[in-house]
Amino acid sequence: MDELVENLDAAKAQEKLEKVTSLCKRRGFIFPSAEIYGGFRSTYDYGPLGVQMLRNVKDQWWKTMVQFRDDVVGLDAAILSPPAIWAASGHLETFTDPLVDCKKCQGRWREDKINGVCPTCGSTTFTEPRAFNLMFKTQAGPVEGDGATAYLRPETAQGMFTNFSNVLNTMRKKPPFGIAQIGKSFRNEITPGNYVFRTREFEQMEMEFFVPPEDAETWYRYWVEERFNWYLDLGIHPDHLRKNEAAPEDLAHYSRGTTDIEFLFPWGFDELEGVANRGDFDLSAHAAASGERLEYFDQGLNIRYTPFVIEPAAGATRAMMAFLLDAYDEEDLDGDVRSVLRLDPRLAPVQVAVLPLSKKPELEEPARKVLRALQSVFRCDFDTTQSIGKRYRRQDEIGTPWCVTVDFDSLDDHAVTVRDRDSMEQQRIAIDQLVATLVASVQR
Ligand code: ATP
Repeated sequence: MDELVENLDAAKAQEKLEKVTSLCKRRGFIFPSAEIYGGFRSTYDYGPLGVQMLRNVKDQWWKTMVQFRDDVVGLDAAILSPPAIWAASGHLETFTDPLVDCKKCQGRWREDKINGVCPTCGSTTFTEPRAFNLMFKTQAGPVEGDGATAYLRPETAQGMFTNFSNVLNTMRKKPPFGIAQIGKSFRNEITPGNYVFRTREFEQMEMEFFVPPEDAETWYRYWVEERFNWYLDLGIHPDHLRKNEAAPEDLAHYSRGTTDIEFLFPWGFDELEGVANRGDFDLSAHAAASGERLEYFDQGLNIRYTPFVIEPAAGATRAMMAFLLDAYDEEDLDGDVRSVLRLDPRLAPVQVAVLPLSKKPELEEPARKVLRALQSVFRCDFDTTQSIGKRYRRQDEIGTPWCVTVDFDSLDDHAVTVRDRDSMEQQRIAIDQLVATLVASVQR
């Protein structure tokens, strides 16, 4: 019986993933890349609503991590980088996955992800694992050769370490302080997949927090909680989120503690973000390789030390996928199914849709006036096509929290009808109160 329930749950979860994927394509969130040429495996383009939602995810991260704090500053480092950085960080040698070939069907797999069984043909005989480096190697400038080798960064973090002194000297910061960055990273994943969960090109949101070594454990615990609560605050269901702390014997060589924040994806709990206490590994490695001192001199205490680093490292595209999956809902309205994305208003691509009840100019003109007032504060849509019922459903499906309908009564009572996405309740609100009323409903 338990097995039956489990299978049913798994089938439902898979069906939900298919529904969300289809909605994302149909409504302009995420398109398969290079589709007119038959697609390009596991790469995606973010459409009009997707680019906005992804930006909202990144903006919320930036607000929480940089804007609302006085101990974290921002950075935007280069994507192209010289081999020296990756030699010092250990990526040239150890940023590898174990690659095996199935002896029967020649499929290539990441050994640690397949439990000894070929996902294509079920065979259990493989070649010996080989270390496959995940970095994309390229060439800078017209001349080939060792001096021209460059790498696309596989993480944003190294930019914060190589700029440690620049930031320290220009920003009057002292530990504890952090440097945050959002940007593209590239990994030549052996088996990308599960939609945008694992792609070769993706966006990360990372912060390196530099602390006195004796305070590292406390700050590590602090950031695990902060980051966990960030997802809850933006609407992830508490039952769908968990912390998974690595056992000491499973830690990477540089790590003194790692906790993954995991979301219940359709295939089970999987990583959204890793929070790690990296000790002084990174700054010491770059100091040794570059000959630069990457330390902090505490004048008050007259001591010089290499700060420890606490790193919360999240994926922006992966987080967006989790927010979409968790927000997707279907409601049975007397046999009619309403699909709705219950996104937090801060993440919804469109926050307010202005819908004149009819296309007649005497309604469109005042409706556009309402739109202009709202646009200075909210992300808005304006739609005059189809019946009002259909327009509501379309906005529900893309997660718009409020629809504002301008009707013929509006011309006399100077009020509009505001419909709430989740409760579908409608309320009449005076036009001159509209912006203030809606502003009060959105957390910042
Ligand atoms: P995994 O074990 O899934 O390969 P990782 O532990 O190597 O990931 P990190 O190096 O800790 O990942 O990267 C931090 C975050 O960046 C991850 O938690 C994830 O959200 C995101 N990320 C990493 N690789 C990818 C990818 N290929 N596609 C999308 N997001 C990714």
